[in-house]
Amino acid sequence: VHAPLAADFYGFQEALTPVEHDASARLRDFMEREVRPLALDYWDRAEFPHQIIPGLADCGMFGAMWPETMRFENSAVWRGWAALELGRVDPSTATFVGVQSGLSMSSIAIGGSPEQRAQWLPPMGRGELIGAFGLTEPLSGSDASKGLRTTAERRGDTWVLNGAKRWIGNATFADVVVIWARDTADGQVKGFLVRRGTPGFTTTKIERKQALRIVQNADITLDGVEVDEADRLPNIHSFREVAVVLRLTRAEVAWQAVGVAVGAYEATVRYVAEREQFGRPLASFQLVQDRLAQCLGNITASIALCLQASRMQDAGRLGDEHAALAKGYATTRMRETVAWCRELLGGNGIQLDHGVAKFFADAEAVYSFEGTRDMNNLIVGRAITGVSAFV
Ligand code: FAD
Repeated sequence: VHAPLAADFYGFQEALTPVEHDASARLRDFMEREVRPLALDYWDRAEFPHQIIPGLADCGMFGAMWPETMRFENSAVWRGWAALELGRVDPSTATFVGVQSGLSMSSIAIGGSPEQRAQWLPPMGRGELIGAFGLTEPLSGSDASKGLRTTAERRGDTWVLNGAKRWIGNATFADVVVIWARDTADGQVKGFLVRRGTPGFTTTKIERKQALRIVQNADITLDGVEVDEADRLPNIHSFREVAVVLRLTRAEVAWQAVGVAVGAYEATVRYVAEREQFGRPLASFQLVQDRLAQCLGNITASIALCLQASRMQDAGRLGDEHAALAKGYATTRMRETVAWCRELLGGNGIQLDHGVAKFFADAEAVYSFEGTRDMNNLIVGRAITGVSAFV
């Protein structure tokens, strides 16, 4: 039986079809059995649990959107709900899936030829091959479009890539990294499938990260890396198509943020019921109940917003500004919620074993990646005013 989440106060999960509902039950069961028990230790050691990949694939987490890899008929609402389910147990696992399925596979599905799709998507859908998405650079994060410096120079049927990437999730072990580089001839951004082991391509793990420690982020250097024309994504002509990928993933990161808030909230509700001060459970104090109500309000409003964004996506009406508002709003409410939850645990709120400190730390990365709150709000501001504040 798939009991509704108590944090789903208004019963939003009813929006799922019966098939999606069953898939959500399988996913929640997998996350509780296979991921929750190991997440704290792997996070503490900053290691990635490769053994969870086949189970995530069986739950249909990789490429649910694309005909080659979808396990069952599904909607953007389901894919968003899945991101919530992943995030509420482990935000790093949600991010790993977001990079593999959202960023990497979507780049290949949107930008790739039929041959490239046939070659890469099925094994990636089974979790046999892992992907990464290399956009951010040491000198360009928010300014990913105009500031992109990695170059691609065409020499006959070969492209030569030079430059550097930073923060690239999964890259330390990925079989293929989608590298975004600027064509030296026409100045446009193009996409290249760079395989692990290609000469001149090196990845170095970013150490001492204090959020999403399970996710393996890397610095990449590209030093005269040769890529066949056959490994260029032919349907990417400029940064416009990269933005299409980001629009899809941003809407899912918004759902992931709701999951992070839900995970922290659930742990807090349990804690305040058990912990006593002044001879009574914390849960019995009015100020504590007020905080819990504010957390639940944040979660509820965020789900409502994300749900409508996903419905717009299913109807083909999701614009960049809608995805940006969902990401900016849900991550801001998440950040507020995990901070209140941390506070309600007192000192134990900063200690890993009490179930909130990890959400609190992870939330900071979810708040800043896939466009910071500022950049997402500026995309919304551009839609409101007709004036871009950042280009
Ligand atoms: P900056 O762009 O330097 O921004 C710093 C601050 O300045 C921010 O608060 C920002 O909002 C503000 N700012 C910048 N410009 C403006 C402006 N015009 N107006 C107002 N404020 C502004 N990238 C990938 O390509 N692939 C990945 O897989 C990937 N994974 C990531 C995983 C993690 C854990 C993290 C932390 C990052 C990851 N990133 C990845 C990079 C991520 O997308 C960037 O960190 C993000 O876009 C912000 O860029 P930045 O860190 O360079 O910050």
